[in-house]
Amino acid sequence: MKTKSRKTKDIVDLVQPAVRGLAAYHIDETSVRVKLDAMENPFLLPDSIGKEIGKAAQRALINRYPDPSAKKLKQAIARYWKMDPARMLLGNGSDELIQAVILAFGGPVVAPSPSFAMYEITALALSQKVVTVPLTNEFGLDADAVIKAAKRSKAKVIFLACPNNPTGNRFSDAAVRKVLEKVDAAVVIDEAYVSFSGKTFLPFLKMHRNMIILRTLSKIGLAGLRIGVLTASKEIIGELNKIRLPYNINTLSQAAGLVALKHASTLNKQISLLISERRKLYNALLRTPGVTPFPTETNFILMWIERDATKVFQALKKRGILVKNLDQPGPLKGCLRVTIGTPAENKEFLKTLKQIL
Ligand code: PMP
Repeated sequence: MKTKSRKTKDIVDLVQPAVRGLAAYHIDETSVRVKLDAMENPFLLPDSIGKEIGKAAQRALINRYPDPSAKKLKQAIARYWKMDPARMLLGNGSDELIQAVILAFGGPVVAPSPSFAMYEITALALSQKVVTVPLTNEFGLDADAVIKAAKRSKAKVIFLACPNNPTGNRFSDAAVRKVLEKVDAAVVIDEAYVSFSGKTFLPFLKMHRNMIILRTLSKIGLAGLRIGVLTASKEIIGELNKIRLPYNINTLSQAAGLVALKHASTLNKQISLLISERRKLYNALLRTPGVTPFPTETNFILMWIERDATKVFQALKKRGILVKNLDQPGPLKGCLRVTIGTPAENKEFLKTLKQIL
């Protein structure tokens, strides 16, 4: 036994120190009645579209490798989001595209904090240095501080989630454009929540050779398909294509994504409903004593809870409602993040929260 445990230890010693030092991205896998933790669209597609997806899956040639460049799906996404298919790259979720960008450009990587955790986790996993720059007190982008940090560290990539997760706000156009203009690094503008803000930096793509836009089909109702989208100059796409895994979008995701986008109007209606639910929930939270919701242009609301937020999180979970607990020392102390659910789920969340408080 002694020898065995020593061997186990030795093999783990071979793992890169940067990886050994990492904490895995935390996903709460508790099975709950009301799941409001992961910014998913709570609505399934109607049965008729589900059946169409079933038929497409039946026809799919799963004995063959997928179309390596996912041509048809890329074209459908290009039509939906008015992008140029020649300047696009698809990924197994935008998570994979974040990894591809860091693989291609390397580090140091600069990102505001708090922001989406995967920028830092992925950079560290690839043994790259990370420099985080605090947001302002109102969760705004401190453009000068980002530019300074990028110059000082000789950053290769800067990630700006816009709107930002987990704060929910969109950085000002002026601040983002200032960063784009003043740094030598590649600037990734992560528009995962663009459908809920209605505002995009896409028109600026032609003006900035260092700009990369990232999007995802996850938040609009297709999280299970894992389809991320990147658009940038042809030169950047050419480089990223060299390191992309050859068959990264599987055949069934390509087939299902194509059918779903044929019915984009159904997805868009769900998004509109979620936006109106967001307004209702936000206003109700504003009126709830002991709760301060922060302005949002996403499908989630960050809120500060006067009472012990971790206890409130646990009490919600005990009653079958899962939100994201962000209550840790730092700017998000006392904060929880709730994803906008169906009207019934939002009502139940609000009622239960009030009972707990
Ligand atoms: N970017 C941001 C800002 C996100 O919040 C998320 C999901 N939480 C992602 C990217 C990753 O999305 P996916 O991998 O599902 O495309």
